Amino acid sequence: MAFRRSIYKSRAQLEAMIEPGLITAAALAAVRDAVRPGITTGELDAIADRVIADRGAESNFKLVRGYRHTTCISVNDQVVHGIPGSRVLQPGDIVSIDCGAQFRGWNGDSAISVIVPGSVDAAPVDATAVDATAVGSVLVDATVVDARRALSDVTEGSMWAGIAAMASARHLGDISAAIEDHILGAGPSSVSGKPYGILREYVGHGIGRKMHEAPSLFNYRTPDRGAEVRPGLVLAIEPMVTAGSDQTYVEDDDWTVTTADGSDGSHWEHSVALHDDGIWVLTAADGGAAGLAPYGITPAPIA
Ligand code: MG
Ligand code: MG
Repeated sequence: MAFRRSIYKSRAQLEAMIEPGLITAAALAAVRDAVRPGITTGELDAIADRVIADRGAESNFKLVRGYRHTTCISVNDQVVHGIPGSRVLQPGDIVSIDCGAQFRGWNGDSAISVIVPGSVDAAPVDATAVDATAVGSVLVDATVVDARRALSDVTEGSMWAGIAAMASARHLGDISAAIEDHILGAGPSSVSGKPYGILREYVGHGIGRKMHEAPSLFNYRTPDRGAEVRPGLVLAIEPMVTAGSDQTYVEDDDWTVTTADGSDGSHWEHSVALHDDGIWVLTAADGGAAGLAPYGITPAPIA
């Protein structure tokens, strides 16, 4: 019978998670800085891979059975688990990048969404006037880009609401409720006229020796209030949100999760530790200071 590891970690174990968190943050920062029209998702993956290798770590995504890449990169109607490759990014694309590093046996896991910069025409797309194959010259309706930015902001905001809630939560369900409340509190999506969609089948998780550990963290309320939140808990908090319905399907590549209605998706994620002195966002270079400031929370370093 398998030994069930406690979901609560010692201070020494939390300290061991600092470096893999910072390496994950550095990899994503490098990718974010490289996002531009014309670059391929495969090239972005190579950038993340190099940062992780240069810091003496390894990609924990490559340790997932059957997966050979350092990142998942999901574009527009793809929400999560997109496979990097030959896809060329266009101005106005919403791109979610998910990445993790394993260092000395401990893991980090984090994701960001980025809007590809570049010239975006304010006028509606006139397909007859546009060579859709020419990189950098595709015209995207500015309202589409504004809606994508709003989607990313709602998703990121819900992640920070969840992180802030973790600082004082008694049970996991308190964090889930804070995430859901933020998303629904944002009002209707400008695309659907209905509340933003929250993926139900994909959830946050504990993280430590393995990238995915117990407990699961739902991004919405459930009847179960969930495990106790107390020092030693480390969670990957990762809302996955759509501008339309919450229904998705897995593409023929057996990985990519795409919205059924073709609406855009966004994914944000941080690995967060709760310890005796407070909360610390392991995958943020500032420990989460900027993201938690609106909540009046100052993160407390672990070491
Ligand atoms: Mg992730
Ligand atoms: Mg994760």
